[in-house]
Amino acid sequence: MSSRMQQGQPLFILAEGSQRTRGQSAQDSNIRAGRAVASAVRTTLGPRGMDKMLVSDSGEVVITNDGATILDEMDIEHPAAQMIVEVAETQEDEVGDGTTTAAVLTGELLAKAENLLDDDIHPTVIVEGYTEAARLAQEAIDAQVLDVDLDDDLLVKVAETSMTGKGTGDVTADVLAEHVVRAVRMVHDGDRFDRDDITVHTRTGASSSATELVEGVIIDKEPVNDEMPRSVEDATVAVADVKLDVRKAEADTEYNISSVEQLTAALDAEESELRSYATSLKEAGVDVVFCTKSISDRVASYLAKEGILAFKSVKKSDARRIAHATGAKRLGSLTDIDSDDFGHAESVSIEKYGEDELAFVEGGAASQSVTLLLRGGTEHVVDELERAINDAIDVTVAAIDKGGVVPGAGCTEVAIADHLRAEAAGIEGRKQLAVEAFADAVEALPRTLAENVGMDPIDALVELRSMYENEGRAGVIATGRFGEIGDPVDHGVIDPAAVKREAVESATEAATMILRIDDVIAAE
Ligand code: ADP
Ligand code: MG
Repeated sequence: MSSRMQQGQPLFILAEGSQRTRGQSAQDSNIRAGRAVASAVRTTLGPRGMDKMLVSDSGEVVITNDGATILDEMDIEHPAAQMIVEVAETQEDEVGDGTTTAAVLTGELLAKAENLLDDDIHPTVIVEGYTEAARLAQEAIDAQVLDVDLDDDLLVKVAETSMTGKGTGDVTADVLAEHVVRAVRMVHDGDRFDRDDITVHTRTGASSSATELVEGVIIDKEPVNDEMPRSVEDATVAVADVKLDVRKAEADTEYNISSVEQLTAALDAEESELRSYATSLKEAGVDVVFCTKSISDRVASYLAKEGILAFKSVKKSDARRIAHATGAKRLGSLTDIDSDDFGHAESVSIEKYGEDELAFVEGGAASQSVTLLLRGGTEHVVDELERAINDAIDVTVAAIDKGGVVPGAGCTEVAIADHLRAEAAGIEGRKQLAVEAFADAVEALPRTLAENVGMDPIDALVELRSMYENEGRAGVIATGRFGEIGDPVDHGVIDPAAVKREAVESATEAATMILRIDDVIAAE
């Protein structure tokens, strides 16, 4: 050590003004923040979960029951709390459902860890115990996977389970679930599923019961010119990312015009360029053009004269879907085009839908695509309906592609807790306490479900455990306005196994990551 430091000069390693919290108090604050976020979504869990109304700075209102959406809309700043938001996001990305489950579980894991820390158990021991417990939980989930045929009836139950409690307007979840399963079946060709092949298209104005399933891609566009055909059968389709107008550079050129002849020649040149789009498309055999950029009125009228149906300013995502469904390439230029560049559809037509006109592209030659048209009285209803339908699509696919289904309604969680307690006995030392704490944390899910259906949570847990022990299956079933303990499979409450697997994995990861932190250094 240098003599100067020995003289007691302080050593600054942090920028002036930065905040530092250490040890127990850093842990406490992180745990508290994490728990607070989890408890914010608790009451939305399950079929009788309540909704949250979120109002942004600008006064925009979102009403939802969806965990991921709530956490996303909340303006969360605390870094540890932010990690729970990430858990929900990961859950949403990986399986599309179970976000509330994952967030509540993370919060409970933190709460139980807090008790262990109070009993002087070292964070590392808790982390090890939780990691071991998560592995055991996966075993329990595997054991719960139902040995059944994933037929349409069962998939409808899975889709319906994911939608119960979501505001589905005046349509019952079972009707929507049937649409969803039909949609997934149409585009799922055995081993491959492309999420892009199912579009959810929303519209306000009518009641939600007007929801329907259409085979094809639907876009919210009208033809660029009234004289264009409104329906084309056996259509050759071009998808272009080209602005159909006089090229900018030329339009900006200042013509050095000194005679009437020169002026006429310049105008003719411009006119012939505008006409050339229509003639070259016509010569190439194109019937319909979807253009992601603008089409000038004059080009539109030439296209109309050639009998071509054209749409301008088509959304990129719609253009991608149309290209995918029809087999069209995305064209960056309209010079040197040939038949390989185009796609085909059985029909492209403009149809009235409620008060609006929509373009239907049906029977695409390259891949099957379907659109679910959702209607609802207001924007809020439609938005929540769309979230519910998207969850339902995801769980249906997860059930088919990601390892089957398990009984819902808290049954799988009871099974996990039971397995953990049985195995904990054989685990040495204080780690055992952490495994038991994990079991308690997982049981918070059926307990919360029971609370949310208006049952006494303690009585419900006692009854659940005893039915589980006797019959190997038990859940908190929402019936009418109340709840009862029963067999989830008999009541058609079934979740994809992947939702449970992912929730355990991401909740454990986040909780252990938060527990490992003992020093928070924040710049100001
Ligand atoms: P998450 O965001 O975690 O998916 P949800 O609010 O969708 O939260 O609730 C999911 C839980 O609700 C699952 O455990 C599921 O099994 C359960 N559930 C769904 N429908 C019912 C029902 N009719 N009775 C009891 N539990 C149900
Ligand atoms: Mg759900």
